[in-house]
Amino acid sequence: MAPSLTPIRSHHVAVIGAGAAGLVAARELRREGHSVVVFERQKQVGGTWIYTDHTEPDPLSVDPTRSVVHSSVYGSLRTNLPRECMGYRDFPFVVRSGVSKSRDQRRFPSHGEVLAYLQDFAKEFAIEEMVRFETAVLKVAPAVEEGTGKWRIESTEKEKKELRDEIYDAVVVCNGHYIEPRLAEIPGNLISIDSSNWNSEKCDCDFVFWKLLGISSWPGKEMHSHNYRIPEPFKDQVVVLIGNSASADDISRDIARVAKEVHVACRSNAADTFIKRSGYSNLWMHSMIECVHQDGSLLFQNGKTISVDVIMHCTGYKYHFPFLETNGNVTVDDNRVGPLYKDVFPPEFAPWLSFVGIPWKVVPFPMFELQSKWIAGVLSGRIPLPSKEDMMIEIKTLYSTLEAAGIAKRYTHQMGITQFEYNNWLASQCGCPETEEWRKEMYFKTGARKRAHPETYRDEWEDHNLVSQAYQDFSLYP
Ligand code: FAD
Repeated sequence: MAPSLTPIRSHHVAVIGAGAAGLVAARELRREGHSVVVFERQKQVGGTWIYTDHTEPDPLSVDPTRSVVHSSVYGSLRTNLPRECMGYRDFPFVVRSGVSKSRDQRRFPSHGEVLAYLQDFAKEFAIEEMVRFETAVLKVAPAVEEGTGKWRIESTEKEKKELRDEIYDAVVVCNGHYIEPRLAEIPGNLISIDSSNWNSEKCDCDFVFWKLLGISSWPGKEMHSHNYRIPEPFKDQVVVLIGNSASADDISRDIARVAKEVHVACRSNAADTFIKRSGYSNLWMHSMIECVHQDGSLLFQNGKTISVDVIMHCTGYKYHFPFLETNGNVTVDDNRVGPLYKDVFPPEFAPWLSFVGIPWKVVPFPMFELQSKWIAGVLSGRIPLPSKEDMMIEIKTLYSTLEAAGIAKRYTHQMGITQFEYNNWLASQCGCPETEEWRKEMYFKTGARKRAHPETYRDEWEDHNLVSQAYQDFSLYP
């Protein structure tokens, strides 16, 4: 049984990661009176927004022994949300007066501006004094011998090399979810096999035998968008991107500036899809890939065959918690992290283990802020949680509802339109105001403009009234 919480108690809490989630988690936990240590394996705050030229040696990032490069950000990346909508609620992402001219003042700024904003946030709230930089968490496991509810954390500092073993009351996992790539399955083609190679003792029939070759028989280069940085290496090449994410959209246009041809294959496109992107002479949309051939060619489901140099998987990422040992109480199954009550607390360990940032298709930073406030308040005993049994019932009901609706497990944490209801629920638990109307509307309007004007939505917009409303609200936060 987990220890009972008596309000208001302060705990010793470990936060794993100093990205956008870990920073705000640390702030909220300290505000609530907890003592906090943030473990960060990089040498600065900002997580995925720390752009680097470096990529992983394995372009598909499948080798488990590879040295991980955390960031998935590419050189040309600008935010896909307007800054007013994207920022934490009580530290608005506004153009800051008096800061260096090198800052990007655009409404949809470059990745460097997001990093600078996160650095400003860390400075404003003195987060760095809680962070142990260049310290990787290797293991997080229940420390049963220390008393129920406690956690053992093994970490290693880059310079020191030896393991550090410590006990914490609670752990908040904020390790980011854009590191471990998901890959599309691409069949090789069918080839006939010389029947003389067949073992006739086992089969005496006189057929032509066929074998389905894997993608490994294809001589081109494969990579994941995690390892994409700049278009120049693709000059004069024929590139096929798989996916219909924001990254696939951005990267296909980026590469089309220098490549000979760019083709985007997408599972959700109808089988006969073959559309030239307007404004480009070398960029096409297709249905999914049917198969690849040993001669380097590739067949789409729409019947088109092309000769290809590079296939880039822009197919997203898997949740991955390599350090977490929970005896099977928290698992990742087809990208469902579970069981998690409200995407945050595993009932078995609540509230002593929690996760910030699991939902996707959301406005991340303000959601991280609310999840963190909730965790901090629950840990101190100020906000009650249902019993373990009731949390499990709610989770099981959610799973049954998804199954009945034919929604695959991997979409468990996709929110989209439901994120605002979720945020409002969190806000009600924490006693905070609900999501601002302008933020919601801005999110939907931006989405619609992105779909209608993917080329220009970052530089031309119509929601000026919402921007004014946002700035009126921001005046509340000096
Ligand atoms: P991260 O930023 O990934 O931070 C996790 C941190 O944990 C890292 O610093 C990492 O080093 C550390 N860590 C991990 N494992 C360990 C360990 N074992 N020990 C110690 N430290 C560890 N969001 C938007 O709001 N707007 C956008 O326009 C936008 N565009 C995006 C574009 C791309 C290409 C990507 C990949 C994401 C984009 N996002 C965008 C989403 C973005 O991921 C979130 O906004 C947010 O930055 C995620 O923060 P995080 O703290 O959860 O994860």
